[in-house]
Amino acid sequence: MYYNNNTLVFFDGKWLKANELMVSPFVQTLHYGSGVFEGIRSYATPDGTRIFKSKEHYKRLLYSAEKMHLKISYTEEELTYLSYQLLEKNSLSNAYLRPLVFSGENMSLTPTEEVHVLLCAWEWEKYLGSKLLNLMTSSYQRPNPKSCHVDTKVTGHYVNSILATTEAKQKGFDEALLLDANGFVAEGPGANFFFEKNNVIYTPPLGNILPGITRATMFELCEELEFKLVEKYFTIDDVKGADSAFFTGTAAEVAGIKSLDNVSFKLKWEDSLGSLLQAKYTRRVAFNEYSNFSIL
Ligand code: PMP
Repeated sequence: MYYNNNTLVFFDGKWLKANELMVSPFVQTLHYGSGVFEGIRSYATPDGTRIFKSKEHYKRLLYSAEKMHLKISYTEEELTYLSYQLLEKNSLSNAYLRPLVFSGENMSLTPTEEVHVLLCAWEWEKYLGSKLLNLMTSSYQRPNPKSCHVDTKVTGHYVNSILATTEAKQKGFDEALLLDANGFVAEGPGANFFFEKNNVIYTPPLGNILPGITRATMFELCEELEFKLVEKYFTIDDVKGADSAFFTGTAAEVAGIKSLDNVSFKLKWEDSLGSLLQAKYTRRVAFNEYSNFSIL
């Protein structure tokens, strides 16, 4: 699914066949989860293949690397250039790009001088699919901001995500909704959370969540559409039975939610503000917003 015999990846300055890449069994990241990564999408647009918000993603990658004491010398611009090369070399257009920065060999708990940079890409359907989601409140909390940098994309943080998604699926739900360390709603295992009540959209403030790039795009789109969007802390009871809700993320894009803990949201998804944002997001990423208008 992720690669075939011809797939090329960028690894430490070289283009290699994905199936020929060798990594030491002693790299620290494999043992302790100390790597950092990004999830980026490219889209076929009227002007060719375009990576959506590449600069923002690579800025976050470099920030995550710095917080984890991983020293890399690439700039946002160089990483963007390499990403376009990666797409071209693999004849990809609508694709998902996965940059990963990981530590070298080291079995102790200190940073390594040796740092590896891998860029790979594949075609990936909307993560979470297109059908409306049934969520459960997770028994797992998001990581406490005092125990790690929750605003970074560190590989080890996803242990929490894997546990929460697995629990939800084992209980017959599609996905989990996690609380923060103070008991307020935080986010999904791999997406930010929004809900709508009386024509106002609410989302948690930064501090306990990943500052999603799709989340930031929602702020831009809400302003353009003149939707009221409020950042505040709220509880599961505030969300249950609200008008509508959705997740946002690069991989998931905008995913409508049907119910939380078996309590349905009131509006039909098609009648919600989230559905309008979803449609606008789809056009925004493909630079296709004016495609339905003819210029006279
Ligand atoms: N929260 C978490 C925990 C995530 O893993 C992601 C996916 N990167 C998001 C939110 C959404 O972030 P973005 O919109 O930048 O993809």
